Amino acid sequence: MQLSENAGSKKAGVLVKTTLVDFPGIVASAIFLSGCNLRCPYCYNTGLVLNNGDAPDAVTLQEVVTHLEQRKSVIKGFVISGGEALLSPMLLPLLRAVRELGYKVKLDTNGIADNRLEDLIRSEYCPDFIALDIKTSPARYAELAPAGLSEEKKNKLTTSLLHSVKLVSSLPADRREFRTVLVPPLVKEDDIRSIAAELPSDASWMFAQFRNENCLNPEYNNVSPYIQKELDALVSTAQSLIPGAKLR
Ligand code: SF4
Repeated sequence: MQLSENAGSKKAGVLVKTTLVDFPGIVASAIFLSGCNLRCPYCYNTGLVLNNGDAPDAVTLQEVVTHLEQRKSVIKGFVISGGEALLSPMLLPLLRAVRELGYKVKLDTNGIADNRLEDLIRSEYCPDFIALDIKTSPARYAELAPAGLSEEKKNKLTTSLLHSVKLVSSLPADRREFRTVLVPPLVKEDDIRSIAAELPSDASWMFAQFRNENCLNPEYNNVSPYIQKELDALVSTAQSLIPGAKLR
């Protein structure tokens, strides 16, 4: 597929050519788009979050298309991630191109751009699968706000997240998942309970261990991850509320 020079030459994002872990059950490619509307202190994608322009290793939309055309026999899915992909002007051009090539599409989102998520879900480009990250109790989302955000906008983070939880919950169970990184200061037993209260009972709720390296807030490099016994206890609490909870 040859895109017009104007569309094809735009930088799209950082491409991972093959991934076995980002799209459940599907061999995929993934792209990571710049920009984010949160500042999670443990974030490992500092470059993408703080970068206002294109990442230095970003590829063009035409390069993404060419890669997908060449690997069609092996790759069956395409993951659009970030940063926060819903903020990127490249999201729709990517969705259009990837759909036209016949790939299944997964979107990873933090759910803060809830109105954009709603528009996308209601459009012809609704992804085949959506993974919604939930970082902590909805009531604690102000702790993840970028510096300088007004109190009103900080409070709106919670409302936006909860709206997105409802939107994603309305998809069939095999087209959605919720994800939480078990970061000790942000996710304790009470937080697990608060998050679970918002999820559908048939949710697939995937937990990941926290890594204390290259964190956006350097103080988090000194936070010790949960030990196995603590992880097991949190996951077990989650499973008692949402049977489809598990540690990935
Ligand atoms: S971890 Fe938080 S700050 Fe980092 S990309 Fe995801 S939502 Fe943005």
